[in-house]
Amino acid sequence: MAKSKSVFVCQQCGHEYPRWEGRCGNCGAWNTLVEEVKSETASISSIHQAQSVKITTFPEVVQGSRPQTRISTGIAEFDRVLGGSNGSAMGMVAGAVMLIGGEPGVGKSTLLTQMAIKSHFESVLYVAGEESPSQISLRINRILEKEQQNYKSKKPKNKLPKLENLKFLSSTNVDAVVMAIVKHKPKLVIVDSIQTMKTDDLRGAAGSVGQVRESAERLTEVAKRLNVPLFLVGHVTKEGQLAGPKVLEHIVDSVLELTGERTSELRLLRAVKNRFGATDEVGVFQLTEFGFDSVTNPTELFLEHADQPVSGSVTVCVMEGTRPLLVEIQALAVRSQLAMPRRVGRGVDLAKIQIITAVLQKYSRIPLNNYDVFVSLAGGYVTKEPSIDLGVALAIASSMAGKSLPAHTVCIGEVGLLGEIRGVSFLERRVKEAKRLGFPNIIAKPQNTQVEAVIKKYGLNK
Ligand SMILES: [Zn+2]
Repeated sequence: MAKSKSVFVCQQCGHEYPRWEGRCGNCGAWNTLVEEVKSETASISSIHQAQSVKITTFPEVVQGSRPQTRISTGIAEFDRVLGGSNGSAMGMVAGAVMLIGGEPGVGKSTLLTQMAIKSHFESVLYVAGEESPSQISLRINRILEKEQQNYKSKKPKNKLPKLENLKFLSSTNVDAVVMAIVKHKPKLVIVDSIQTMKTDDLRGAAGSVGQVRESAERLTEVAKRLNVPLFLVGHVTKEGQLAGPKVLEHIVDSVLELTGERTSELRLLRAVKNRFGATDEVGVFQLTEFGFDSVTNPTELFLEHADQPVSGSVTVCVMEGTRPLLVEIQALAVRSQLAMPRRVGRGVDLAKIQIITAVLQKYSRIPLNNYDVFVSLAGGYVTKEPSIDLGVALAIASSMAGKSLPAHTVCIGEVGLLGEIRGVSFLERRVKEAKRLGFPNIIAKPQNTQVEAVIKKYGLNK
């Protein structure tokens, strides 16, 4: 067995100390230091690596740089998030290590199981630290039901998956997993989850920072060496942090985040970090009992009153990555019983609502100081984009006036503190998308320059 030394690691920030201390000097947290046994093998392997270091000249770099070969996950929206150039070559890169985080129950395992089935890899190793293979097989059967329907309906490009390519390893021992990868040389590895992995070289429990980091490092090393794409599932705590904190983000190539309200079917996949692609793309899915459905036209999820105009409802256009998305804003203004009227936002920043109500009060003389104002985005959508400002302002004014904007109108613009409408990025692309979806009326710069003027024009000032 390798010679080991003991270190104390802060469970909050991952900082190491030679001896125990009550307070972590790095992050200031109390009682977060836990003893970990650190194996010397790590430094031996780094000496090996150091010996094989090769320095290249710039012309060599230029010559050697060609586009990364991409491997499709078989799920269009997933590929979009992983990156690549439009359409033809999108997906994962061989040897890339991707962490997929999300709250328990959001569907991480389902998405990865679906990928294992649909990606048509010759050999996929699914390492299950939490579920038994029989539990996973239930999930596979549900996903297959849909696949078989698709196959029967002869949708283009549908191949029936070969299930014998899918292999399971029920283990929480990371060294056993590494050995299995070396021995069986799978073309894709999924580890579900990294928090269940542990090595006997450390005394800490599975899920502790030391174990999570060490396991991730060992798996990453073998993935890079064998050029196998590796997915790690990581659970996120209620506070929205990846358990086994930030340390993982530095080890892996990509960090993907799967989010969604448990009450709704909508799931969004975003890249928080992506060494092989952009981080501004988002994959939109609907989680059904048969697994994830890619939503290629997400707008319909976020529009509830597209056809009949309703007072308090306004449509805006936000950018998710390079993709414009129409979203409905709903506002409700009711007479307040409170000395300090309430401002409540769902999916919209509270500060934004406060600023916009102040602007409406000052420049359009709408008496919002006596009204509670509630603003929400349809479909559980959340955004911080300034381009929705104009929509928020007009939705509030519309609710106050009890009048609506004309049907099929989209509002695009930031609102300044002087009540002016400001331009936004990608205006042309947004307008094009709105028109494509049957929204010919656009309220935006340069045709509209003041919020007040728009409110008057549409009679929203009563
Ligand atoms: Zn600390």
